[in-house]
Amino acid sequence: MTSGNFRLELLDSDIEVPCPSCEYPVWVRLVEVVARCAVLCPSCRCRIWLTDADGSVQNAASEVQDAMNALMRELGGMFK
Ligand SMILES: [Zn+2]
Repeated sequence: MTSGNFRLELLDSDIEVPCPSCEYPVWVRLVEVVARCAVLCPSCRCRIWLTDADGSVQNAASEVQDAMNALMRELGGMFK
């Protein structure tokens, strides 16, 4: 029970990524990262793709990737 709640809390936690175009700090939820959403920068309104394959948001992505890798391992075990 406790570990299940912990996973949900983890998915619901926020991380701060700098907007690649204006560097405004944008808060995204980890669950949005897992779902590969794009978030809208509230400052310049550009779209920030959380899993950008061409690496244009690499600074943000590397931090996100670390958290995601750990999370996907957790979830991978959960859904087997
Ligand atoms: Zn921006």
